[in-house]
Amino acid sequence: MQKLFKQKLVERGLKGKVRANQSGCLDQCEHGPNLVVYPDAVWYGHVAESDVDEIIDSHIIGGKPVQRLRLADDCLNTTVCEHRKGSGQ
Ligand SMILES: [Zn+2]
Repeated sequence: MQKLFKQKLVERGLKGKVRANQSGCLDQCEHGPNLVVYPDAVWYGHVAESDVDEIIDSHIIGGKPVQRLRLADDCLNTTVCEHRKGSGQ
């Protein structure tokens, strides 16, 4: 997914203007596959390849984060959220 994302950034001449990280789980495995778009540092979770164009068009080009794919702050700043109930699961 990250490879596809980077490929599309290159195709659109956006390489270097935006950075997208998908380095391991970043403690967000339950929300994966994840993508973090900088400089906004907006987290996306459960990103599918079919969502890549929408993120690029709406967020990176249009400046409007894709709300339906964003990870809630509640998911980022806690060890337990609706997606990960307790440990060891
Ligand atoms: Zn969550």
